[in-house]
Amino acid sequence: MTDDDLRRELARRLDAVRGRIAAACARVGRDPAGVTLVAVTKTVSVRVAALLPGLGVNDFGENRPQELARKRAAIPAGRFHLIGHLQRNKLDKTIPLTHLTHSADSLRLLEAFDAFGRKTGVPVPLLLEVNCSREKAKGGIAVEDLPAVAERCRALPGVEVRGLMTMAAYTGDATQVRATFAELVSLRETLRATGMALPELSMGMSNDFEAAVELGATFVRVGSTLFAGLEGEPEA
Ligand SMILES: *Cc1c(COP(=O)(O)O)cnc(C)c1O
Repeated sequence: MTDDDLRRELARRLDAVRGRIAAACARVGRDPAGVTLVAVTKTVSVRVAALLPGLGVNDFGENRPQELARKRAAIPAGRFHLIGHLQRNKLDKTIPLTHLTHSADSLRLLEAFDAFGRKTGVPVPLLLEVNCSREKAKGGIAVEDLPAVAERCRALPGVEVRGLMTMAAYTGDATQVRATFAELVSLRETLRATGMALPELSMGMSNDFEAAVELGATFVRVGSTLFAGLEGEPEA
């Protein structure tokens, strides 16, 4: 496709997603301004991603540090969200490029974030990824371990825990999906009682972002609904 064709197609899909977010907000009396659409660009070229700021999208989700760095170099004004597992040896290079890490998934990683934040004097903003669906194949902190991990974070001055993230099981079962998101909300309530603020909830992907918005998501991470069929679009 030409850039013009791509821009038109992306605008059409963005309108649809934004409309669905607004409708979900309306159903529960939320202000759509409280939901940030993170465009998960992990499957598309820099060329496709670079059209998004012109369409009002400035939040990009990437799951691999190297690809995040490549896209960030091409779109320096973009806010890049890391949504995949980070190996500790990539942390020093990745954190300075990342607006928010959604996938802090172990105490060991959190301690490495803390060391980095103390070294630079800027606490690392992050979300704790929780395995609410309890699928073995999924990453994230076990629900049972979350209170202890959160408690430990309060003693780590180099991290700023801004909230929680989860992924629902890939299923057509809307009840199960809603239960997963509701559990994240309830875990946040439990932690709030200990004095943590945790304003952000990152939940909802292409298949389930409306349910997530209805239940209180502040970030939805949408990939395939925006980019399906555009994976083969070349860089130039
Ligand atoms: C790929 C990915 C998404 C986007 O998924 P889609 O179903 O394509 O919208 C969201 N969150 C995470 C953590 C991902 O890895």
